Amino acid sequence: MLKIKNLYTAYGRILVLKNVSLHVDRGEIVCLIGANGAGKTTLLLTVSGLVSAREGEIFFEGVPIHHLAPHQIVRLGISQVPEGRQIFAPLTVRENLELGAYHRWRQEGKRAVLADLEEVYRLFPRLKEREKQLAGTLSGGEQQMLAIGRAFMARPKLLLLDEPSLGLAPKLVDFIMEKILELNRQGLTILIVEQNARRALEIAHRGYVLETGRIVLQGSAQELALDEDVRRAYLGRD
Ligand code: ATP
Repeated sequence: MLKIKNLYTAYGRILVLKNVSLHVDRGEIVCLIGANGAGKTTLLLTVSGLVSAREGEIFFEGVPIHHLAPHQIVRLGISQVPEGRQIFAPLTVRENLELGAYHRWRQEGKRAVLADLEEVYRLFPRLKEREKQLAGTLSGGEQQMLAIGRAFMARPKLLLLDEPSLGLAPKLVDFIMEKILELNRQGLTILIVEQNARRALEIAHRGYVLETGRIVLQGSAQELALDEDVRRAYLGRD
């Protein structure tokens, strides 16, 4: 579904991604693990078109997307849940969710969008309770639910998740991970970036390890979880 070939991304003269190749098949959860600053966020931003690739190719369902604008990439079916969530704080929960579907209103109509709104509320009843509340007043966990819900409202085929566990209490991390699994069981393909490698490997089918911009290891989640280097570097603590 997603194929990245020999990707190089740089900020000015600083090369951040170096010859990265990876793929995500339909129906998979693939995780990308790596230390702070390894380039994980940059990789997601390059796929979303928010940062341009210096070299290399990205294909989504066979279509080259590395030259497309972010809004065109969203329309093809890729949605990103950004790190730090970046919800619209002065808008209500419901307005945030509706904005997630902004490009669908005209084409698909109100009924389709409202049905998906109900689906988000079924997944996250807390958002229904807080429907009219300003998003900026939500707790960290609720904001993460809202960010995932908003990405879902675009009805993506591929969801890019940047550090969904960041800053959340362990119980909430369990809850969010369970919801990610549920979305995957419903057919959504997911590329998840995590510093919390243990949690990511628990839910993923396969994974890649990124170190200073290069993929140094790849394998099934089980293989990675048993790998000595991964254990030493990334699974030391929860
Ligand atoms: P983190 O978990 O801390 O977000 P990461 O693996 O996602 O880490 P990136 O955020 O992709 O890493 O950052 C990779 C490198 O690129 C870092 O050295 C960072 O300082 C640098 N970088 C990130 N954004 C920019 C930017 N806008 N301009 C210049 N350098 C940047």
